[in-house]
Amino acid sequence: MSASPDTVDSVKKTDDAAVVTAAAPVASTSASTPAPAPADPGAILRRMRAAHRKAGPPGYELRVKRLDKLEKMLVSNKAAIVKAISSDFGNRSAHETLAAEVFTTLSAIKYARAHLHEWMEPEPREVPFLFMPARAEVIPQPLGVVGVISPWNYPLFLALDPLASILAAGNACMIKPSEFVPETGELMKKMLAETFDEDVVCVVTGGVEIGVAFSKLPFDHLLFTGSTSVGKHIMRAAAENLVPVTLELGGKSPTIVTDGFSLRTAAEKIMHGKMMNAGQTCIAPDYVFVPKGKVDAFVDECKSQVARMYPTLASNPDYTSLVAERHLDRMQGHLDDAEAKGAKLHPVNPANETFARDTKKMAPVLLTGVTEEMTVMQDEIFGPLLPIMEYDTLDQVIEYVNDHPRPLALYVFDNDGARVQRVLKDTISGGVSVNDIMLHAAQEDLPFGGVGPSGMGHYHGREGFETFTKKKPVFYQSRLSGVGMLNPPFGKRIDLILKMLVGK
Ligand code: NAD
Repeated sequence: MSASPDTVDSVKKTDDAAVVTAAAPVASTSASTPAPAPADPGAILRRMRAAHRKAGPPGYELRVKRLDKLEKMLVSNKAAIVKAISSDFGNRSAHETLAAEVFTTLSAIKYARAHLHEWMEPEPREVPFLFMPARAEVIPQPLGVVGVISPWNYPLFLALDPLASILAAGNACMIKPSEFVPETGELMKKMLAETFDEDVVCVVTGGVEIGVAFSKLPFDHLLFTGSTSVGKHIMRAAAENLVPVTLELGGKSPTIVTDGFSLRTAAEKIMHGKMMNAGQTCIAPDYVFVPKGKVDAFVDECKSQVARMYPTLASNPDYTSLVAERHLDRMQGHLDDAEAKGAKLHPVNPANETFARDTKKMAPVLLTGVTEEMTVMQDEIFGPLLPIMEYDTLDQVIEYVNDHPRPLALYVFDNDGARVQRVLKDTISGGVSVNDIMLHAAQEDLPFGGVGPSGMGHYHGREGFETFTKKKPVFYQSRLSGVGMLNPPFGKRIDLILKMLVGK
């Protein structure tokens, strides 16, 4: 693939006046500084689209250059990223930020760069004998300007991981981060404005009203990551302009521990997945099925694994805060509701600490004796609560999973390969990790995406490139073509040919 003469990025603007500023919650303006004018996302999109058209589709070298710049930006700003996210959360483990935001995004960039040449190649396709010696191929073509609406829980990764695919596919990108993480949103805006031409990557910050305006824009594709309920608004808004959407949504991800599997190993992995980001992970294990008679032993294992990984919680910088006090209240609401309806609560507080409300931290709680009537078994938990249910047969578990909305992730801990295959065959979910938690999402060569209420479409790796690419089918006629023989006036010749093609 040869480089296009595209020079879009060669005149990188550093003029911060050009950076778009909406009425972001964090934007503090002194009395003498006039408030920045609210962004007009529609005007930005028109400008970006015009620039994209004028520059033409970026070639391989320019795309690689953009990925290089994104990589460099992340590496040189990692300390600021750790600080901004922690400030937005109250406390976010620096290790979690480096591993789950910076490293994961860098992996996506490196994987895309390593495979870009191959992905950009036109793909020759078959031509039936009747049309030979013509030829056919699929040409990957950038879509144009792609919109990204991102959530707060992994605020950098869920904006910039899609950006890596979007830039690799040769598009421009407009990002709307969550208003719940204003410092991270402002940091991303600043970093990206310093790194890219504003017509290539642009961040628009602001509250829900900006999100609403953003979702109504006639993008060439819109990727939304967030809750299933807001996802419905996004799809409705996008439908007005027939904007294709990729929806990365949430839901309750079931976890199955089968008889014979080490409870200690399962507890270690499940509690690690649950405690990471204090349970605020879309693919965190939401609830666990444990074989009948093993619930008490599993509760004990979970407690000792948490105590081993987090000897303290309240004062431990490794343990992340909930993002807002209302989420503490939401967790407490689930606990009160479950207790009132007969569930048993097992708080996991290894050092018996008290938790000051303003730290927004809470000790994890295991719940047993839960029923369908409890809110904790109805809504995605998205916090450090873990309901544990016991079961008699695998059939019951599979039936339960299939009776509920299709989950984003499913986990099965089992050393019996045939039983694992049965779970894989008889349940549908966005993705699966067998004998571990969440790691399917870390494999760059696997597509990522939900199914039904947990989402539609995929990204990551090759699927990410393809999601943001028009796969344009092209047919090249040959000078030696014989298809004219099928033209009217119809007579004996076409009768003979049709007899060969469709029978007498
Ligand atoms: P959310 O749906 O409340 O918000 C997501 C984004 O949408 C934010 O930027 C927000 O400002 C914007 N928004 C809110 N209302 C809007 C509207 N009416 N129109 C347009 N935009 C609007 O989600 P959240 O609370 O930020 O994130 C948590 C949810 O995201 C959980 O359900 C979680 O499972 C899900 N999630 C999914 C994935 C995934 O990859 N599938 C990843 C992370 C989080």
